Amino acid sequence: MSKIPAKPRFIFITGGVVSSLGKGLAAASLAALLQARGFKVRMRKMDPYLNIDPGTMNPTQHGEVFVTEDGAETDLDLGHYERFTGVDAKRSDNVTAGRIYSTLLSKERKGDYLGGTVQVIPHVTDLIKEFILKDTDQEDFVLCEIGGTVGDIEGLPFFEAIRQIGYKMGHSRVLYMHLTLVPYLAAAKELKTKPTQHSVKELRSIGISPDILLCRAEREIPLEERKKVALFCNLPEEAVFQALDAKSIYQVPLAYHEQGLDNQVLKHFALEAPAPDLTQWQHIVSRFEQPDGEVTVAIVGKYTGMGDAYKSLNEALDHAGIAHNVRVNQRWIDAKGFEKHDVAKKLKGVDAILVPGGFGERGVLGKIAAITYARENNIPYFGICFGMQVAAIEFARNVLGIPDATSSEFGAYEGSDARGSLIGLMTEWVKGNATEKRSHNDDLGGTMRVGAYECNIAPGSLVSKIYASKHISERHRHRYELNIAYKAEFEKAGLKITGLSPSGALPEIVELQGHPWFIGVQFHPELKSRPFAPHPLFASFVEAAIKHSHKVEKAA
Ligand code: GLN
Repeated sequence: MSKIPAKPRFIFITGGVVSSLGKGLAAASLAALLQARGFKVRMRKMDPYLNIDPGTMNPTQHGEVFVTEDGAETDLDLGHYERFTGVDAKRSDNVTAGRIYSTLLSKERKGDYLGGTVQVIPHVTDLIKEFILKDTDQEDFVLCEIGGTVGDIEGLPFFEAIRQIGYKMGHSRVLYMHLTLVPYLAAAKELKTKPTQHSVKELRSIGISPDILLCRAEREIPLEERKKVALFCNLPEEAVFQALDAKSIYQVPLAYHEQGLDNQVLKHFALEAPAPDLTQWQHIVSRFEQPDGEVTVAIVGKYTGMGDAYKSLNEALDHAGIAHNVRVNQRWIDAKGFEKHDVAKKLKGVDAILVPGGFGERGVLGKIAAITYARENNIPYFGICFGMQVAAIEFARNVLGIPDATSSEFGAYEGSDARGSLIGLMTEWVKGNATEKRSHNDDLGGTMRVGAYECNIAPGSLVSKIYASKHISERHRHRYELNIAYKAEFEKAGLKITGLSPSGALPEIVELQGHPWFIGVQFHPELKSRPFAPHPLFASFVEAAIKHSHKVEKAA
């Protein structure tokens, strides 16, 4: 590290004992607090696994792939960061060990290290430091999280890199915050601090002494126990915080502030700042926790077993509920094995139906059946990405009478112009002034239409009212497109294409005429929804669900 920039201050967030402690949420909450105290923040995440990015990873294992404005496929924690701080994440805010090594190895092949031995230290650690420091001199704070837990073999170069940054910059510029678990043993009726002590010992063995400990616990950690942790982990007592399970994620920044976490951080850096105004957080907590009514949305999808596979979607529905002061119950229905005959039974009592993004043919018949049901029974329907494509297939099959209408994603009609080839691979599309090309032989990783693209909205359409705008920009992540050649036929039968790419070649939005709320979008609006700025499409969809529930009540 040759030159040390004047700004920013770095907060490194690490975890120990077990994974899934909610480091991302803890980091995002601290960032929100610092922001509320007037500081400019940027958040970054380093993932020590060897995939180049999470784009090809199974969402049931790894959780959703979060897409940034500038088209990066990133870890879902970046979604928390965006939602809690309102700051758009960038491609340069997430890196994996795979990406670091791939950069390093192509440099090696080019001869950049000619004559030298290429090693983890210093070459890998130097690239990690470069990632952390890049373009940060305009920020007050950079909060940088390391995925995984301390002690993981693959995490070592990352820990070494942050140690070196602390060594060079010193205490006044760097803070280490470590998140651990203090489990409760029911048999002994005791909270156990030993795992935390071991975790800190592990961290110290690689040269990092945490400045703040955040202890996740199911129950209140008594002061005595916190003092013990402080003593054995070599921290001041006021630097040990408890992170109790919260009723909702929106409570977390408030709970941290109450304990003085942001004050402790400012004290570490010898900074002063006005007290934060957290009324907007209090406002959403009270609306979220004390709603006035409820609606139920059926989500007919594939990855229904894993909580984080559709994180942004879950949250966008919650935001829309907050906007209308209702609880939005999400009834997840596995599309597989869900056929025409049990549609009415499974969807009984739901106020709206949503088919989310997805990949592959499995479960598609169940999704089609759910869409037919929504279309024929005037139940609000929201199709997102794959959910729009399947809505088009459903319409073509059941209304236009094209029984073999399908997507080339399912293998049929590849490269042919058969009549059923409704959803196909666009071989190129325009972004700004550039044309991006794709072919059937491309790698699967990094070859989708990903990131923000513009869309023109048809005047007089429902979506033009919802957005109150003629031009929008939304984030995409898909490989296939609805074939524009069907436009006239679709529109004649009532499915209007009300959103188009600026070139006019790519349908972005479809909506059904004469139905209270039936909209399909080729993009992922959930990625841009924020607790303080619910996405207009989600807000409108939930409003339609509320109206539907009132109609059903009246009829009963
Ligand atoms: N599988 C579809 C495609 O690649 C839809 C993707 C999605 O829903 N994100 O086009």
